[in-house]
Amino acid sequence: HMLISDGIRASAGRTPDKVAMRESGRSLTYARLVDRIARVANLVHAGLGLRHGERAAVFSANCLEYMEIVCGMAEAGVAAATIGPAAAPPEIRFIVEDSGARVMFVSAALEEVARAAAPSVERFIVIGPAYEALLAEASAGPCPVEVTEHDIFSVPYTSGATGRPKGVQLSHRGRVLSGYAMAAEHRCYTPEDRAVATTPMFHGAGFLMALTPIWFGGQVEILPRFDIDSLMGTITSFQATSAYIVPAHFAALFALPEAKRAQWDMRSMKAAISGTAPLPQATKERIVAYFGEGKLFERYGTTETSIATSLGPKDQLRKQACVGLPYPATQIRICDGDGQEVPQGEVGELWVCSPYMFSGYLNMPEATAAGTRGDWFVTGDLARQDEEGFVYLVDRKNDMVISGGENIYPREVEEVILAHPAAAECGVTGAPHPYFGEAVTAFVVLRPGMHVDAATLTALCREKLSRYKVPKEIRFVENLPRNSMGKVLRRELRARLIAESK
Ligand code: ATP
Repeated sequence: HMLISDGIRASAGRTPDKVAMRESGRSLTYARLVDRIARVANLVHAGLGLRHGERAAVFSANCLEYMEIVCGMAEAGVAAATIGPAAAPPEIRFIVEDSGARVMFVSAALEEVARAAAPSVERFIVIGPAYEALLAEASAGPCPVEVTEHDIFSVPYTSGATGRPKGVQLSHRGRVLSGYAMAAEHRCYTPEDRAVATTPMFHGAGFLMALTPIWFGGQVEILPRFDIDSLMGTITSFQATSAYIVPAHFAALFALPEAKRAQWDMRSMKAAISGTAPLPQATKERIVAYFGEGKLFERYGTTETSIATSLGPKDQLRKQACVGLPYPATQIRICDGDGQEVPQGEVGELWVCSPYMFSGYLNMPEATAAGTRGDWFVTGDLARQDEEGFVYLVDRKNDMVISGGENIYPREVEEVILAHPAAAECGVTGAPHPYFGEAVTAFVVLRPGMHVDAATLTALCREKLSRYKVPKEIRFVENLPRNSMGKVLRRELRARLIAESK
C-alpha cells in the first residue's frame, strides 16, 4: 500500500538528523517529524478515541505543525477536513457539520472564532502548549490501525461557487501518485533540493507542494501567509530550487519597482511552478526574463483531478495561453454536451481520467454522479487541443459571457488588456444589458505609478479582438476580489454588476 507517511519515514530512515521543514525560524528534523506524526496518530486513536473512517477538522494558517497533524491523523485512519484560515463562521460550521468532525485542531489565533462558529465540536486542540502536552503524553510507537491506500487522507472543500461547498475526498494512493508525477515532471524534488511552500495547506494543491519535497528527502520552508517580500527573500536566503508561485503572486512581483526586484537572487531556482489560475502570456514573458530561461512550469488541474496537464519550460513562449500536455498517466478528452469528442482543434469541455483522481465528494453521491462519467471527471473547463496534443484552456464554462448571442471567453479579453504595460491585473465579466443580454465589462488594476485610460485600452482591444468581444465598459479599480489561492473571483465582479443594475 502506498501511504503518505511511508514516504516521509523513508526519508527519515536515510537522513534522520536533516532538517525536513522550517517555518518562522522553527524547524523539524526528519526524525522529529516522524516521531511527532506517530504521536499525533496515537493521540487521535487512543487519546481522543477517533475511529478509522472518521474525520477531524484542521483550522489553521500554514504552520510547522500542519503536516504532522494531517499525516498523523491519516495514520489513524482519520481524514483531515481542512478549513482555510480566512473561512467565515458559516463555512466553518458547514465543514464541521458536513464532515462530522468531533475534534478540531486549531491555531491559537483562530480558537475564538472556531469555538463560536462550531459548537458541535466536542474537543478543540489548540496548537501550542496544550497540543505539545498531549503529544508528550502520547505514544510514539506504531498506531494499531490498519490503513490502506484507498483510505481517505484529506478532505479539502471546494469554495461552493456552484451550490454548497463540496468535500473532495483524496486518498493516500491518489496523493502519493500525484507527488511522484510531480517529481518526474518538474525534476526539482531530490535530497539536494529546497522548496518554498507559500500557498495555503488547507487546499489540495497547497498541501501537496509542502509534502512532495519532504517525501523525496529534501527540505521545505513553509510560509504562514503570502507576502511577496518574504517569498522572494526566502527563495534568496534559503537558495530554494523550487517554489509554487500562483499568478497572483507573480502579479504582485511584477507590480514592484524594478530596483526592488533586483535585490533578490533567483539563480538557485530550477523550477518556478505556476498553476491554479490562468497565467497571462505577458506575465510569462516577464517571468522568463526575471527567473531565467528553462525554469517556468505551468500546470493545470482541479482539486478533484489533482494536476492534469503541464507545460514545461521549453514550450513556454512557443505555445501561447497553453497549459501543456497531459500529466504522466493522465488521459484527457474534449467533449461536446453529449459526451462525444469534438474534432481536434475545436472547443469543448475538458474531461480528465488519471490515477490521481478524487474518491468522490463526501456525502454527495448526486454531485459525484453529476461531475463524473465512469472513471472520468468533467472539469467544467472549456479547452481545445492543437495538432501536437497541447491543451489550451479557453475558460471556465460558467464564466463565459454571452453578448448579442455570441460567446465571449473573458480570458481572451483579459490577455489583451494585460499586454498593456500599465495594466497589472484584469478581470472580465458580463454586466446585464437590456439589448445584448450581457455587456462585456473589464475591471482593471493599474501598475503603481503608471497610467492608461479606458479609450486606449478599448483601442487595443479593437485592434486584437472581434468587435463583439471588445469591452463595452472598462473600470479602473484598486484591487480585484480574490480567493485564498489568489484566483480572481469573476463571479463576484458579475454579482456586483447585477446588483448595480437593479
Ligand atoms: P470552486 O470549485 O470551489 O469554485 P475552484 O474551481 O477554483 O473552486 P480548484 O479545484 O481549486 O477549485 O480550481 C480548479 C480550477 O482552476 C480549474 O477548473 C480551472 O478553471 C482553474 N485552473 C487551474 N489551473 C489553471 C491554469 N493553469 N490555468 C487556468 N486555469 C486554471
